[in-house]
Amino acid sequence: MVNGLSIGVIGIQGAISEHVTTIKNALKKTNTPGNVFVIRHKEKIKEIDALVLPGGESTTISRVLYKTGLHDTILERITEENLPTMGTCAGCILLAKEIIDTAKDVKLLKTMDMQVERNAFGRQKESFEQNIQIKGFAMPYNAVFIRAPAIIKVWGKCRVLAEIDEKIVMVRQENILALSFHPELTDDLRVHEYFLKMIKETKN
Ligand code: GLN
Repeated sequence: MVNGLSIGVIGIQGAISEHVTTIKNALKKTNTPGNVFVIRHKEKIKEIDALVLPGGESTTISRVLYKTGLHDTILERITEENLPTMGTCAGCILLAKEIIDTAKDVKLLKTMDMQVERNAFGRQKESFEQNIQIKGFAMPYNAVFIRAPAIIKVWGKCRVLAEIDEKIVMVRQENILALSFHPELTDDLRVHEYFLKMIKETKN
């Protein structure tokens, strides 16, 4: 960590700049030296210490990841080097091993032992905010959901960190974090701080 952490945000579509700003704020708040890069080419994946897969449209994002070769490069770094990764909303969908809807053209990275359902909170509840309890967080967290997926079930090494009713909304599997909500759309930095802590643990 001589020059600080190098964190990449996949820059295909969706809430990209919001993640960049939130990571920068979290780095500053925790006095962590580091830089944030928007990634559109697979070569850059080799240089980062951690990766964020933002929300957006999972069909579009996955198609472009595949076409550009980013899909395979990301997968390689996650499976062979345990690259710390955080997927939010559409990014959460991409990390799942299984999906239970008709979006056959979503090409999953299949790195987490979980099954997801796209747009699982129904039409009336396309967007909403809700206080959730996240394991390890002292105070409730106000989570923003936008056409959010739910994590229907987990197995193997995947651990539940938060749920709403029966629906799981945040999980961790070793170095990978997945959330069905948007932590980059609030001023609360705790999720990104949690991710930074994960990254630092793997560097030590
Ligand atoms: N509904 C979107 C999808 O299925 C996810 C929405 C989001 O990322 N805000 O990809």
